[in-house]
Amino acid sequence: MKNKYYDVIVLGSGMAGISIAAELSKELSVCILEKEKFPSYHSTGRSFAFYIESYGNEIVRKLTTASKNFFLEYSKSDSKILNQRGVAHIAKKKQMGKLKSVYNDLLKINNNFDILDKQKTLNLLPCLNSDNLEASIYDHNASDIDVNLLYSIYSKLFKSNQGKLVTDISIEKISYSNNSWNLITNNDQYRGKIIINATGSWADEVGSKFNAQKINIVPKKRTVFCFKPNNNISLSNDWPVAVDIEEEFYFKCENETILASPADETISLPHDAQPDEIDIAIGAERILNATKFKFHNIFNKWAGLRSFVKDNSPVIGFDKKIDNFFWLAGQGGYGIQIAPSLAKIASNIIMKKSNEFFIKNHNINIDLIDVNRFN
Ligand SMILES: Cc1cc2nc3c(=O)[nH]c(=O)nc-3n(C[C@H](O)[C@H](O)[C@H](O)COP(=O)(O)OP(=O)(O)OC[C@H]3O[C@@H](n4cnc5c(N)ncnc54)[C@H](O)[C@@H]3O)c2cc1C
Repeated sequence: MKNKYYDVIVLGSGMAGISIAAELSKELSVCILEKEKFPSYHSTGRSFAFYIESYGNEIVRKLTTASKNFFLEYSKSDSKILNQRGVAHIAKKKQMGKLKSVYNDLLKINNNFDILDKQKTLNLLPCLNSDNLEASIYDHNASDIDVNLLYSIYSKLFKSNQGKLVTDISIEKISYSNNSWNLITNNDQYRGKIIINATGSWADEVGSKFNAQKINIVPKKRTVFCFKPNNNISLSNDWPVAVDIEEEFYFKCENETILASPADETISLPHDAQPDEIDIAIGAERILNATKFKFHNIFNKWAGLRSFVKDNSPVIGFDKKIDNFFWLAGQGGYGIQIAPSLAKIASNIIMKKSNEFFIKNHNINIDLIDVNRFN
């Protein structure tokens, strides 16, 4: 059994793991250990692939906006990470109170939002059922996010810095001595100064194996299903994403297909999430009510876990109970769109660099995402 030493060992190869590994590999030797045979098999490979600055709580929104520069910087004219299409938060008559309170909240972030009346909303989304629509908030900046492209940019960066990714790993024994961690796995032995826990829904389970503190992460299952409407509605990739103002459902059109979600949040244990028929039936009913679509067949479906802690904000920082164990978890439903800023902030903490840029330019209060905020 070989014995390999790294400055940092990252556990988990989802968007969290690859983004922080890529950042750190610029200056440190980094290895990613992944339990599955393929990287990004869990939440990262199952997302709705959307970037919405008006999504999540205040700190999530700031982290999203702070990630935008990375997306623009690494985009080329023929391969953009963000492809703008907008999002319309749609409301029925009885939801107008909610629409107004959401709008007032959003204006605190920036001015990219307009309230559109029924007709203007229908001009953007002619598939909506006008009987169940009163108005919408239109967010101009919302975009499709090319998750594969983002992942491959980080992956290339990581590999070009001699980063090492090992899949199909099971950690069998953990010890800590002389300021370094020693992991005996099913194939090799890995030694490292710092462990980063980027294991998504498994974060507490993995943390407990290292005797770390608990962050009480709660995985929540979310379902996506795909259908092709069988009535004569001409579909367009230019339509904004439609999101119910109370997030009871959302959908977008991609290449003559509607990708939809009932926005379910079923509390789960960490596992390989699979879609349930009941969630698809609930989503289908909500979307049939809100639109003119007719459909009978669901031709694709999947589910994944979105993992949250109590305040729905991400969790980063060194564990208080044990040495050199760093948390990068709790990205909820935003782990793709906040990955660049979160990875940069976290890597600055690990490398003892300043986060002044994020504090000053984006008004980000790092205490609000610190792992020790619950103590
Ligand atoms: C249906 C759905 C829609 C979503 N839509 C969006 C969206 O539009 N925009 C957005 O920004 N976000 C979205 N998200 C959220 C986003 O996908 C997640 O926040 C993000 O992928 C989390 O990344 P992660 O790396 O933390 O977790 P994961 O991608 O789950 O990665 C964790 C990895 O850790 C590995 N692991 C676990 N235990 C161990 C161990 N003991 N040793 C080694 N490895 C281990 C796992 O195998 C896994 O590969 C969505 C999520 C879902 C489910």
